[in-house]
Amino acid sequence: MVAPAVALAAASAASRRSWRRLFRWRAPGSRAPCRPVCTARGLPGGNEYDLLVIGGGSGGLACAKEAADFGKKVAIMDYVVPSPRGTSWGLGGTCVNVGCIPKKLMHQAALLGGALEDAHHYGWDVAPSAPHNWQQMATAVQNHIKSLNWGHRVQLQERNVKYFNIHGSFVDDHTVRGFTKAGKETLVTADHIVLATGGRPRYPEDVEGAKEYGITSDDLFWLKKSPGKTLVVGASYVSLECAGFLTGFGLDTTVMMRSIPLRGFDQQMALLVTDYMESHGTKFLKYCTMRKLEKFEDQRLQVTWHNHEVGREETGVFDTVMWAVGRVPETRHLNLEKVGVTLHPDSQKILVSASEATSVAHIYAIGDITEGRPELTPTAIMAGKLLARRLFGHSAELMDYDNVATTVFTPLEYGCVGLSEEEAERRYGQEGIEVYHAYYKPLEFTVTERDSSQCYIKMVCLRGEDQRILGLHFLGPNAGEVIQGFALGIKCGATYSQMKKTVGIHPTSAEEVTKLWITKRSGLPATVTGC
Ligand code: FAD
Ligand code: NDP
Repeated sequence: MVAPAVALAAASAASRRSWRRLFRWRAPGSRAPCRPVCTARGLPGGNEYDLLVIGGGSGGLACAKEAADFGKKVAIMDYVVPSPRGTSWGLGGTCVNVGCIPKKLMHQAALLGGALEDAHHYGWDVAPSAPHNWQQMATAVQNHIKSLNWGHRVQLQERNVKYFNIHGSFVDDHTVRGFTKAGKETLVTADHIVLATGGRPRYPEDVEGAKEYGITSDDLFWLKKSPGKTLVVGASYVSLECAGFLTGFGLDTTVMMRSIPLRGFDQQMALLVTDYMESHGTKFLKYCTMRKLEKFEDQRLQVTWHNHEVGREETGVFDTVMWAVGRVPETRHLNLEKVGVTLHPDSQKILVSASEATSVAHIYAIGDITEGRPELTPTAIMAGKLLARRLFGHSAELMDYDNVATTVFTPLEYGCVGLSEEEAERRYGQEGIEVYHAYYKPLEFTVTERDSSQCYIKMVCLRGEDQRILGLHFLGPNAGEVIQGFALGIKCGATYSQMKKTVGIHPTSAEEVTKLWITKRSGLPATVTGC
């Protein structure tokens, strides 16, 4: 994946100039600790709380808890506006309720279906085509989520963090207002305010019936009954992951993509991901854009789209249409213009410095709501903790957004860290990099005669003596588990020479990384065989 650019890179020169005037700007990467510049009204001690966090998701909870551990008086506001379909959930934010957690559990449920098919090869007398029960799975997943919601509330209580279940918006730069469910107005004042309100799924504005009849990932994980024959629109993380597990449950699943899959990722890997999905049952409508959605009396949806490849309108009938066309940052309801927090003019995300400072001195922002950061739970959590340490723990450590590893949990998982081949080539030129690669066969695929055509590893190195590793890409089972450890090595500046000296663990798929020797430049076939 392309390494995330620092937030300011995308801002226009004009907004950068005005932003500098607004507060003491530090160059991205500057190690200077962040010192609050308080207004007279907001002198430390003059407000009720040392810290108020708006948004009780991955980043906000981590920041609030860390600040409380320094003995500070902390409050957190979290409120879930129901989706247009009326779906709502508890404390914990996107990851816990409508993101990583239900997604990974449903991915696991789909993998188990594959394991059932494998099982009889290994002597188990089980029916390979056992039907999947959505309701049973969804109830189990939702119960787990509810236990996490409860756990978060307990953790806040244990640390004396005051939790307000209200939708906050600024009154002035130290005061936030919200209303409880019963309509009671609550005003909270704080010396420091951290914005961590995340994002929500986007609906296309130009498609008739989109909001009325379509659902998003905010609804999918909370459906009481199976979505049935499903069309998933979009071609990135959310779309491919959801389409992957729906296919795994045996549902007729189609992905509609308007351009390339997994934009920003190494495109050779991205195409292998979709190739695998296609050969394992997911249908793809390529170069198509949605026109309209209509509902039949029997509740099924008639979908009309434009197929750009053949240049004509086409139609299809589905039980469910799910939008996975990106996310909108939750900056609209915070009344940010009132306090002068600057947004990126296009993305509407908050512009932050390397120390997560916004254009208002004592207001900070972390997680999905910030411009130019990866939209991932572990980065939001780490950014939140480090911010609390800088504010209250005499720390100067900044969040390092480079070489953040990630995994796309598609049926064949894709894990990566560092640069894509395209990005490495753009930075260092084709002659400046060496790419080692291999198609391999996971041992567990042999007895079951599973197709391993897309099991592939690629290591992108700087050309030269030690060949520093710029990027590592792994497509295969348990990719997240494989790539996590290598991410440490790459963070520490690991080289190809060091990787060659690393003894593999046999028999694993991860050991194939340590055995890479075929360069793309050599033109040799990249298929590895044998033990
Ligand atoms: P959030 O977790 O979104 O939390 C923001 C909270 O603020 C929400 O509870 C929201 O309701 C609340 N809020 C908003 N406005 C207000 C307001 N005005 N007042 C009070 N409260 C407010 N990341 C991974 O690392 N791994 C994965 O496998 C992964 N899978 C994902 C799968 C899906 C389907 C999706 C959608 C995302 C996934 N992500 C994954 C991304 C991850 O969930 C986010 O990056 C992460 O949750 C961001 O955390 P956050 O703290 O920025 O915001
Ligand atoms: P992205 O913004 O990454 O992708 C949006 C997708 O929708 C793209 O394929 C885009 O196509 C397509 N699209 C946008 N607008 C339209 C439209 N009008 N019609 C058709 N297609 C459209 O969003 P996601 O929601 O997939 O993911 C959001 C973030 O959440 C990710 O960046 C990731 O950080 C995080 N996440 C992480 C996961 C993980 O760690 N495993 C899992 C899921 C999410 P095009 O390329 O043509 O613009």
